[in-house]
Amino acid sequence: MSKLSDHIDLVTIADLVENRVAPKLRTESMAHISNCSPCAEKLRKLGDVVRLMQTDRTEDAPRDVVAYAMSIFSGRAKSPGQSLKRRILAALSFDSMNQAPAFGLRSAQTGTRQLIYSAEENDIDLRITLHEDMWVVAGQVLREECAGGSVEIEGLSGSAAATLNDMCEFTLPGVPPGNYLLRVHMSDVEVELPQLELTA
Ligand SMILES: [Zn+2]
Repeated sequence: MSKLSDHIDLVTIADLVENRVAPKLRTESMAHISNCSPCAEKLRKLGDVVRLMQTDRTEDAPRDVVAYAMSIFSGRAKSPGQSLKRRILAALSFDSMNQAPAFGLRSAQTGTRQLIYSAEENDIDLRITLHEDMWVVAGQVLREECAGGSVEIEGLSGSAAATLNDMCEFTLPGVPPGNYLLRVHMSDVEVELPQLELTA
């Protein structure tokens, strides 16, 4: 028996909407959804999306229903006809704060925290420095070419944006302490990092 805290993930909800779920899982999922308003709301919204895409004949419907749904739930919905860039959620693969004391000491001395994120062909190297009470996030997208690319950071306490240079490097203007989302926009792909906690 599933607990109320085990919400139905978006992939399963998408499968439910498109009728691709085995009967047993469907029964279990619907039992949860009937008692859980957040999941019921997701099912309803995603159902709307899928119906819209099915009735929209002007252009090919976005193939990735889940990515499309994520963009809706993060409040950045696009109209169903618009084509979607591929969206990658980056995963943290290195954090200098979690390293052995020798390295930690070295990074404490320079005052710069290094974070490396894996995102398929778009790994990202971040350097975070506290400068006069403002957090400065700089970094590099580790790929060959990123013409026209940009980076934005967004949180309740502030936001900033910067473009990528020829080396795919960027330096964002300083932002006040807080929790932030950082996104990298490139011509073919959008990379989103897990929440960044910028606190002393
Ligand atoms: Zn739920």
